[in-house]
Amino acid sequence: MGEEPYLLTPGPLTTAASTKTAMLKDWGSWDDDFKAVSKEIRTRLVAMCGGEAEYDCVLMQGSGTFSVEAALASFIPKDGKALILMNGAYGQRSAKTLDYIGRAYVTLDKGDYLPPMPEEVDALLTEHKDVTHVVVVHCETSSGILNPVKAISDVVRRHGRKLIIDSMSAFGAVPLDVSEIPFEVMVSSANKCIEGVPGFGFLIARKDALEAAKGNSHSLSLDVHDQWVYMNKTGQWRFTPPTHTVVAFLEALHLHEAEGGVQGRLARYTNNRNVLVSGMRSMGFETLLEDAWLSPIITTFFSPNDPNFEFGRFYKEIKSRGFIIYPGKLTVADSFRVGCIGLLDQTVMEGVLRAIKESCEAMGVKNFAPPDGVK
Ligand SMILES: *Cc1c(COP(=O)(O)O)cnc(C)c1O
Repeated sequence: MGEEPYLLTPGPLTTAASTKTAMLKDWGSWDDDFKAVSKEIRTRLVAMCGGEAEYDCVLMQGSGTFSVEAALASFIPKDGKALILMNGAYGQRSAKTLDYIGRAYVTLDKGDYLPPMPEEVDALLTEHKDVTHVVVVHCETSSGILNPVKAISDVVRRHGRKLIIDSMSAFGAVPLDVSEIPFEVMVSSANKCIEGVPGFGFLIARKDALEAAKGNSHSLSLDVHDQWVYMNKTGQWRFTPPTHTVVAFLEALHLHEAEGGVQGRLARYTNNRNVLVSGMRSMGFETLLEDAWLSPIITTFFSPNDPNFEFGRFYKEIKSRGFIIYPGKLTVADSFRVGCIGLLDQTVMEGVLRAIKESCEAMGVKNFAPPDGVK
């Protein structure tokens, strides 16, 4: 496996050899051994956010978006109304999802890279008394910003509304504990910070909210209540589970625990981010975000203002040196992103810095700063 490039992307990402080899066996989805795997995963995920007393975990086939859609459809009743806090592609996707499933909503749209602030949420909840649920993205992966979820949660609680968190790219590496942030439901997936392979998502929700979700969903396959009841009754998934992915995920959870759980992972990813950002800045690159908002998940850099810089060529040069980076997703300026999650350490981050430097030399790029006026 030595020839694979490292994935400096927000998932799918570079996984451990033991996670990959866990997939070399076939499982019967109804068999007790596989049921025990699903059960252990659910128990471990609930424990990861301290939710043993009041929360349960539901696993859901598909990519992360399927689970976000399942959550929005199942937890926001047909006569409910959401406030969606948007500052990038994933907040926008939640709004689009509500258009599809026919739920009312209002938005706070902060554009590409500014955080939704608690005072703004406070004002909107005061204005819109009919809002029942607030939807927030924990780490908005399109810019890499870490949104102030704790402060937003406090405001939502004070107003007696319910909080839905898309913690897809943060859960497992950024602490999210129900004693601090008593969310209604949070959503994440197998191929982000737990470092599994893609194929399913998971929701952690209050048990009373799971009970109340009955009959809300427009979709059979995405009905969280139905999946939950069936899993609890039979130990099985309602429809064919991605068995190999599920077994790999349990191995990934064991590795997560061995690394020291959420704190251990946070420490490694934070160091990855620090090595990356300081190395890039010392070459002359600039980050989109101020330090206060940088996540340990993924960092956006402005593309250099040099006539010789072209992202397609840059990508290929870096790939030929063994690393895969990620294109930018901004409307304000050209940019690219480098992820810090997955089985990456300081040596890998130093390797990608070298690859970026060599790639710029190969392209004849000399000016690394962004165009004037984008910052
Ligand atoms: C990855 C991600 C998703 C889900 O994306 P999929 O491509 O459907 O797995 C949702 N929200 C955020 C913040 C993400 O990073």
